[in-house]
Amino acid sequence: MSKSNKPFANVLQLSQKILKEYDLCDVCLGRLFAKRLGLVSNKKLGAKIHHALKIKSAKCYVCKNIFDGVGSQVAKMLDASSDHDFATFLVGTKIKPSILDRDDHMRSRFRLRGIDGIKTNITRELAKQFSRKTKKKVESSEPDLVFMIDFKEDSCTVQAKPVFLWGKYTKTERGMPQKQKPCTTCLGKGCIDCNRHGISEFDSVEGLISKYLFEKFGAVQTKITWIGGEDSTSLVLGSGRPFFVKLLHPKKRHPRLPKKIPLGKVVVNNLKLINKTPTGPVQFTSKVKLCISCENKVEQAALSRLDALEKNTIAVYEKSGRRTEKLIQNIQYKTDSENSFHLSMTAGGGLPLKRFVSGDDVFPNISDILENKCKCDTFDFEAVKITH
Ligand SMILES: [Zn+2]
Ligand SMILES: [Zn+2]
Repeated sequence: MSKSNKPFANVLQLSQKILKEYDLCDVCLGRLFAKRLGLVSNKKLGAKIHHALKIKSAKCYVCKNIFDGVGSQVAKMLDASSDHDFATFLVGTKIKPSILDRDDHMRSRFRLRGIDGIKTNITRELAKQFSRKTKKKVESSEPDLVFMIDFKEDSCTVQAKPVFLWGKYTKTERGMPQKQKPCTTCLGKGCIDCNRHGISEFDSVEGLISKYLFEKFGAVQTKITWIGGEDSTSLVLGSGRPFFVKLLHPKKRHPRLPKKIPLGKVVVNNLKLINKTPTGPVQFTSKVKLCISCENKVEQAALSRLDALEKNTIAVYEKSGRRTEKLIQNIQYKTDSENSFHLSMTAGGGLPLKRFVSGDDVFPNISDILENKCKCDTFDFEAVKITH
């Protein structure tokens, strides 16, 4: 040993004292002094000390040789992530409290300050070896994958960061609801019956879009934010209704998405990956066409009274007592028969169209203005525009 190696000599001296009382593995021994000596590998340092002192370790007092299992845990991580597309990852571990207790005990017994705890050590070791094998980067803020290695249960689970998308859909045939009824077994939580999807049928706009995304991304669940709603009898035309998707547990993160995705009665256009879905409410306007039938004959003079609605606001009252206002930008109408007509208008998104026609807690409304009991038979969307 050279004379410049006085710090190491001190380390050897203290190590001898510690090892007289406790059997420690290379990693746990090295960890006690690596920082002090400015070294990176706890294991190499531990081996060097053991070698210099001619002491062999059998069963580590602190970790019970947990580090011998790192290789097999890394193999599990490789297996769990083999069909995942990812660039970054993070590792979390659960280890027995008794190991943490003995680690604390050792450190306070020999007044060793400023050294890494065993949990940090094992977590870093797993990450280092996994990274070396996969060439993927450790990232603590929003990694693509998060591994949880539970040494108590001897299990490895992996969680993928959600993917966010937005697009627009059109629906050119009547008779399909927008939303999918949840799985009857789990009510949407996800269970074995529904392959954890939370839905088991795919006969709605939501169902068709979800099914496509499950397959395309190898994902488990979708959370869709719709920009407005419609009836199963409504058509959605023009460039379509915008929607946002949070896709949970995706295996793929960047599949190729065609500009136009035909899904039977529904077509999705310009589906794109985005960073986040909007958090607050989204303001929008809808251009709609309503087919309205009336109890009595529709007079042209009565219809022309609807002109007054243009650039006016409509008050909508909910059972909860909440009141909202929707602006009508423009309005046009045309009689179809003696007691039916259709109405085209652009209005603030979320105006309850059927109630606007019948007059159910919406003021002013079509039935009142025409002094004729009216009913909205169908309403179709010709354009839906996000306004902010
Ligand atoms: Zn150990
Ligand atoms: Zn279910």
